[in-house]
Formats: sequence, C-alpha cells, structure tokens
Amino acid sequence: MPNSRSSQLSVFHRPVPRRQLLKVGSGLGLALSMGALPAIAHSAARRLTSLSNDPFTLGVASGDPTSDSVVLWTRLAREVLSEIGVYNDVLEVRWEMAEDENFSRIVRTGTIASTSLLGHSAHAEVRGLNPASVYYYRWHIGNVTSPAGRTKTAAAANDNNTRFEFAFASCQQYEHGFYTAYQHMAEEQLDLIVHLGDYIYERSWGENLVRAHEGPEILDLEDYRARYSTYRSDRDLLAAHASAPWVVTWDDHEVDNNYAAEIAEDDQTPEQLLLRRAAAYQAFYEFMPIRLPVGRQGPNMPIHRRLRFGKLMEMSVLDTRQYRSDQACGDGRKQSCAEHQDSSRTLLGAAQKDWLYNSLATADATWNVLAQQIMMASLRSQDEDGNQLWPMDIWDGYPYERQELLQYMDEVQTPNPVVLTGDIHSNWAADLKLDFDDLSSKTVGSEFVGTSITSGGDGQDMTDYGLGLLSNNPHVKFYNAQRGYVKATLTPQNWLSEYKVVDKVTEAGAPIQVRKRFAVEAGRPGVQEA
Ligand code: FE
Ligand code: CA
Repeated sequence: MPNSRSSQLSVFHRPVPRRQLLKVGSGLGLALSMGALPAIAHSAARRLTSLSNDPFTLGVASGDPTSDSVVLWTRLAREVLSEIGVYNDVLEVRWEMAEDENFSRIVRTGTIASTSLLGHSAHAEVRGLNPASVYYYRWHIGNVTSPAGRTKTAAAANDNNTRFEFAFASCQQYEHGFYTAYQHMAEEQLDLIVHLGDYIYERSWGENLVRAHEGPEILDLEDYRARYSTYRSDRDLLAAHASAPWVVTWDDHEVDNNYAAEIAEDDQTPEQLLLRRAAAYQAFYEFMPIRLPVGRQGPNMPIHRRLRFGKLMEMSVLDTRQYRSDQACGDGRKQSCAEHQDSSRTLLGAAQKDWLYNSLATADATWNVLAQQIMMASLRSQDEDGNQLWPMDIWDGYPYERQELLQYMDEVQTPNPVVLTGDIHSNWAADLKLDFDDLSSKTVGSEFVGTSITSGGDGQDMTDYGLGLLSNNPHVKFYNAQRGYVKATLTPQNWLSEYKVVDKVTEAGAPIQVRKRFAVEAGRPGVQEA
C-alpha cells in the first residue's frame, strides 16, 4: 500500500466544532424554525444571489427519524462552487419543509452555513414535527432550488401502531452493475430504508465491470469524497434517497476490506490505518443524513444508535468493524485455531456491548431489530477431509461473543429479536439457535440476510459454491444469490420479509420480482416460509 499521501491526512484530524457551522433562522425563517436548532449568529456566511449551474447534483436525503425530528441532507457540488470561485467561502444554504408535495403548506424553514471543511455538506436537524407524518423538503441556494425529497417521522414511542414497511439493502459496488433495485425501492414510498454497509468500495475488483469509478485504492479525504460523489451520481440511488428517510451503518469497504479496528487488510501500520479511518469516517458523515455522531474525533466515530418506531419496532444499529478484534487464524474460511478459541475476542467492543445489552434487557417493542453487517447464524462448511471450516470475518469467527449474546437475549427475554444482515452478497433466512450444533436446541431469534444491490454482478438463483452450506447448516432455510433488496412488512402479529430480486444488474432497467417470502410469527422465534 503506498503511504506517501498519509501526511496529508493529518490536517483533517481536528474536529470541527458543530456550533460554529450552524446558523438557523433570520426574519421570517426564525419565526418558522421554532423548535429547530437554537439560532447562532454566523456573520461570515455568504449569501449567493445567482449561480449559473445547479449545485444540487448529489441529490437530497433525510435520515434517522424520531417521532418529532429528522435530519435533512444535501451537499453542494464542488465543481459548481469552484467555477465561480466560492468553494472556500462559508455559504448560506436554505431549507424548507412542507406537508404537501407542492410546498403550499410550509411548516419549517431554516438556513445552514456550509463550509469546505465539511465539503459543503449540509445537515439540518429539523425538530418539532408531528409523529408518523410524511413531509416534503427541498434546499435553496441563490436562485437554484434542489429536487424535493419525501420523508417520514417515526410513530411516538408508546403509539399502538399496527403497520410499518421498510426495506434493507447493502453492498453496491458501482463497477459491478446498475442500481436498478433502488429505482424499484424508490417507487415503494417506504416508511424507512436501512443500509447495512458497503455503500462504497475502496477499490476495484471482479472482471465484468459495466462502469468505472475513478482512480486506484482510495486513502485520503479527497479520495473518499470523490468516491462517494461518483456513487451519488447514480439517479436510481438519488431517487431512493429522496423517497424515504434512511438509517445507515457502515461495514468494511467504507474504509478498507476486512479491516478490524486499527488493523488494515494490507501492509498499512495501525497509525496509517487510523489516519485513513479518520478520513473515511469524515467522508461518511459528510455524505450521509445522520446526526453528528457524539464524540467524533479523528478516527473515532461512534455510530451505534437506537431508533424507535412506536410500540411496533425498536432498532439497534450496530457497528461490527470499529471495535473488533482482528480476524482469527489469518482470516478467510479456516479450521479453528487457538486464537479463534480465545473467549476474550470481540466484535462489538465493551462499550457497544454494554449499550446493546441494556437495549435488549429493557426492550418492550413487539419487534426488536439488530441492524448490523455480518451473518450471525453459523455458516460453517467442511473440507474434503471432513474438517470444519469457519468463516472468520463473520460471527462464526467470534463464537464466544455470539454465544454470550444469544444466551443473553434468551435470558432477558427480549421480545422477538430479528437480526438484519448484509455483507455476503446473497439472500438467506435462518433460525438463531442457542446451539448451532444441535438442531433441537432452542431457537432464540430470526435472521434475514439481504443480498447485494450490485456487488458480485448478476449472480444466480442458487449456488453455494459447492460448500454444502445448506446441508451443513440445517438452521438455514433459504439461500439465493441474485441481486436486490429485502422488503419487510411488520404488524403486531407478523413479520414478513420479501426477497426482491432483479434479473440483471449488468444491464439497466431490469424488472423486479419477489423470489421468496419468509415470515416470523410474533412470540414464536424462527423463520417460516410464507
Ligand atoms: Fe460487500
Ligand atoms: Ca463487507
């Protein structure tokens, strides 16, 4: 790995105090933005009057809804600002939110000061909204108005809501295909879209590339910004962002394939990987509709968080990369070794684990979701000599922490735990067992693994690479390796997962179909074909 550029990373180390970046309300805007962030004077923000080109080409987005707030996002395109010589200025960007698509009933407006320190990204946390309500929003700068986005707040914590529809997606290698699945997802006008990681890829891989992202492996902040910008040039992805609020987490490729805490995949030192992580995490924040993660500083960015959607669902969003112990036995699919048997190894890290255990022990929603990256149900295989092989990058590689977590959920009787997973570019449905070696042992939860949007190319319906994954793992009920996403429909009685797949991603515009339906009955853990 070339590290000549790592000295450039250090300038991005300094955390930017958020208060200096915000300016909310003036005149009419102030009156309308009551309930939004406190007004902070920012005399330096420059108000542009006219732009010759549209700076909103990266789209609009919203995310992390609560029952009275949501984060609105946009980002001003660098080329457009540079062209008129204002990239290094602090710029005033205005947002407005309405109850209707025509913006005739505006309920909030405000302004944000965007700065090149954060790549002219704009995050507005709008508060004082009504629960379980659809809103429309758009941004203005100078004489230009952004496309409108649709968003939705969560139901109030104690609301007896009876229906919630969301989709989850992961793994969208830009070079491997077109984001057609997102076009179909956007049309569904969902309550929520969840992204489980590998939103960008840090380098090229595979052979059948249908479009290119620029440059070699990305390392510094400008590289990561450029990569996100390329991915966000896709209209189907923009449409999905504009169609519903998103909840995002990351997996490995937002930084470096299979990195673990400060351990790089290749030959970067921990010091170098931490600088790279600081750059990658900052770019992630800049491009995502999320609140500023509490405690973000340099390479540290805690993004695990809890979201609640009435009594129907609570979602714990996890990060299984930033705090994990290095993969055991040299990573890959390996026989167990002494390192693998070390019960002190962790995926979650101590602080996140305490926080999660607290969530699980106090959970009182009907459906309690773990939105995370890597497959939790065991997916062991056997080599020709009958030796068990463990995939070391997923929960199988951390068997003690998995066992502890599943036992804990059983002990504290977390109602209806459902684990959502991305990462492995294939669809699976599985029972989470107290003992994966004993099919008759108790099922304590259900897992739905969603396939990739594009990663791996067109894929195929059923192939398990000759590993015997279904026959070796009878707790696994379904496997498919086409591309698409999973739509989940929740009621107080039932969870329905629909595995939606497209015929092709190497050609744009493919139709989508439901390949399979799996359900969970409330009060009865485990997946059933529906
Ligand atoms: Fe991936
Ligand atoms: Ca991954």
